Amino acid sequence: MNLGIGVDYTLVVAPRPHARYEHASFHLLKGSSRVHAIGIDIGGTKIAGAVVDELGQIVRSDRVVTPAGDSTLLEDAVVSMITSLQAGGDVSAVGVAAAGFIDAAQSTVYYAPNINWRNEPFREKLEARVGTTVVVDNDANAAGWAEFRFGAGRMVSDMVMLTIGTGVGGAIVAGDRLFRGGFGAGAELGHVRVVPDGLACGCGQRGCIEQYGSGRALLRMSNEIADAGGIGQALARVRAEQGALDGGLVAALIESEDPGALAALRQLGHWLGQAAASLSAVLDPQRFVFGGGVAAAGELLLAPIREAFLEHLPARGYHPEPDFVIAELVNDAGVVGAADLARVWVAEHS
Ligand SMILES: [Zn+2]
Repeated sequence: MNLGIGVDYTLVVAPRPHARYEHASFHLLKGSSRVHAIGIDIGGTKIAGAVVDELGQIVRSDRVVTPAGDSTLLEDAVVSMITSLQAGGDVSAVGVAAAGFIDAAQSTVYYAPNINWRNEPFREKLEARVGTTVVVDNDANAAGWAEFRFGAGRMVSDMVMLTIGTGVGGAIVAGDRLFRGGFGAGAELGHVRVVPDGLACGCGQRGCIEQYGSGRALLRMSNEIADAGGIGQALARVRAEQGALDGGLVAALIESEDPGALAALRQLGHWLGQAAASLSAVLDPQRFVFGGGVAAAGELLLAPIREAFLEHLPARGYHPEPDFVIAELVNDAGVVGAADLARVWVAEHS
């Protein structure tokens, strides 16, 4: 088959590195040499890009500041990054990840919260300018796919990832495939409701897990504990010294095992575990993977999650129990996942 860059490729099935469980995942191999794909992750503050090989290893990378509020400049920046990354040689496809709703055909951005895109045919526009196959995916889905292929999910066929950053991102892999939903807007796990008529959420609804299990929620809980005195004394002191609490200050207190900060983290874990129990009833994953900045707390976060999960698991005692782990590909998951999704798309459409 010809991919438009004058080279014939052979489709083969190859196991992932170190995988005991072998996925039916596809790779393109050209003779004995590796075939590379480009992954681009458009974030609110920076655009990260990399050439990634079929084992998920980054060959070379690039990074620029995201042009704020101007979709034309943003498109130009992405094109220029792809062009410069392509210059190094064999690239089979380009995967772009961005926050927002992307259609199931990995082509049109229905809506992006950080960019003024509405029904933006981003794939078509980029393909016309860079001359290579392009696919577009949601950023949390790309990060989840990277964990599934090369990170914490590589031993399982069914996985749920929750990314605990400022908000709560989600990704679902079911039966070795990334779940996108009928319209492409599925796996928005941050907006699963855990509290009827609960706190208002940015999505327009109330009581979403994002309001109880995110980095922002951890700050709110830390402030509440500081206000209450008692175990909140250290939180209150740091807040007074620094003017306000932020993620770094709370993380430092967690690391020093401050009882107030640990209590806030336990509250957060409790909500996440409760949400995981409901997700288990629907998706029955073998593994939950937690990523994002708050997941750096490791076992201190996982312990209350497991506890709340078991407390709220429907048919506990009869339902097989998944395991709970921390993500492995901390900073590169978006670009690695986007590149691999592009490679998979090419393999499945050739
Ligand atoms: Zn919401």
